[in-house]
Parts: sequence; structure tokens; C-alpha cells
Amino acid sequence: MKISQELWLKKNGHPKGMLGKSHSEETKRKYSKSRSGELHWNYDGSFSDETRKRQSESAKKRIEDSKEKQRLVEMSRDYHKNNDVWNKGIKEKTVKCPHCDKVGGNAIMKRWHFDNCKNKT
Ligand SMILES: [Zn+2]
Repeated sequence: MKISQELWLKKNGHPKGMLGKSHSEETKRKYSKSRSGELHWNYDGSFSDETRKRQSESAKKRIEDSKEKQRLVEMSRDYHKNNDVWNKGIKEKTVKCPHCDKVGGNAIMKRWHFDNCKNKT
């Protein structure tokens, strides 16, 4: 079973991959701050402009990715919508047995029902 980072942390009290080694107070402080604080990746100002630039670029890329994902979701939604229409077109080709009022697909009824209808006279 795959355990999410969040669940793992709750269960074990430390992030996955730390192998239970206890953190220094400093690390704990940084970690909790990075989880909760704004400016979490640059709260102590130790990141360079270059890093900041890369951060913002990767954020931009994430947005592009999510747009692309959204586009694919919409495409697949359209596909299913069209597919529904297509299915309905098929479903509408039904026939009703004049003997017992049973309704079914044209081909299936002709093949299996009409000749065997128990109400057929
Ligand atoms: Zn019938």
C-alpha cells in the first residue's frame, strides 16, 4: 500500500526518508515553518535571486501544466458527451413487439423475440 507523505508524517512523526533520526531543534523549527509560513522557501532570505527566478519559473510551468491537464479533461469530457449522443442514436432504434408490448433493440428483438413471443397468435 502506498502511504502518502502526509499520512506517513502523522503516523511516524517525521517525514518519509528521514529513517527516524531525530531532528535538531533547528531543523524542526525550519521544517514546521516551511510547512506553515508564507515565503516558506525563502523565509530567512538565504536564497539567491537566481533561485527565486527558478522558483517562479517552475511555478509558471506548474500553471501551464495544469492548464494543459484541464484542456485534456475538457477534451475527454467532450468525447464522452459525443459518445453519449452516439449511444442514444443507437438506443432510439428500438421496436415494440405488437403481441406483448415488449420493447427492445431492433436487431435483438427481430432475432430473438418476435418468432418466440409467447403471446404470438
Ligand atoms: Zn412479444
